[in-house]
Amino acid sequence: MDNIAGKVVVMTGASSGIGEAAAKRLAEKGARLVLAARREDRLKALADELVRLGGEAAFAVADVASAEDMRKTAALAMERYGRIDVLVNNAGIMPVSRLSELRVEDWDRMIDVNVKGVLHGIAAVLPIMREQRSGHIVNLSSTSGYAVSPTSVVYGATKFAVRAITDGLRQEESAASGIRATLVAPGLTETELLSGLTSPEARAIAERIKGLGMSPDRIADAIVYAIGQPDEASVSEIIVRPTALA
Ligand code: NDP
Repeated sequence: MDNIAGKVVVMTGASSGIGEAAAKRLAEKGARLVLAARREDRLKALADELVRLGGEAAFAVADVASAEDMRKTAALAMERYGRIDVLVNNAGIMPVSRLSELRVEDWDRMIDVNVKGVLHGIAAVLPIMREQRSGHIVNLSSTSGYAVSPTSVVYGATKFAVRAITDGLRQEESAASGIRATLVAPGLTETELLSGLTSPEARAIAERIKGLGMSPDRIADAIVYAIGQPDEASVSEIIVRPTALA
């Protein structure tokens, strides 16, 4: 049996795509969920569905760019369940474009959500996990966190940063406090991530690769695998690429 039943899992970006798929998988395996994102209607519908299927789920309307929202999300988990076993820092955005387009507001948003959001999640749960002397933080990077390509420079930079943060977290906390750290790095996955691109060049690239990505269930499987390992094993990195694009 895997090491999931009864665990309290806080999942950011649970309102669609990979986060939603992973939340469903974890609930099926008996995890107790706190679903976080900005779209309340989606979170409520998912929480209701998980409860209807016999699971336990609460939700928090939270913007990961706000450290306060993440503190409140962790507080809700503590109030509801009394502990936090896992945080999945999954929320992310990808409004990509070439540097020369100077879409500075998009750069700022990507840094706020993809980098600061991960740090705010860590800040909210680390004291709790250190006190428990156990915990697991799973961060979503990307294959763009290993190789930069035109139009994905700032997005890639944020995902390189997530790799650095996750590796540093492992080095500082693993032996010292028993907290595990996992990086999950997907290649193209069919979700809402590429919807709403405004750069014409980025839109053309997205159109060309449409339909070549994986189901979000493939990444949910990777997240579930890492969380489900016995406490003695810390899965530090998983890369999953779509066969059609690898
Ligand atoms: P989706 O767009 O389907 O999901 C993104 C999720 O993040 C949504 O639930 C969204 O919810 C949430 N989110 C966005 N901004 C914020 C915010 N400021 N505060 C809180 N939640 C936020 O994309 P994916 O499922 O594909 O993305 C999940 C992760 O996987 C991301 O980190 C992404 O970078 C990564 N990834 C995805 C790949 C892909 O090809 N799809 C490839 C590599 C990595 P809401 O809008 O309700 O807040």
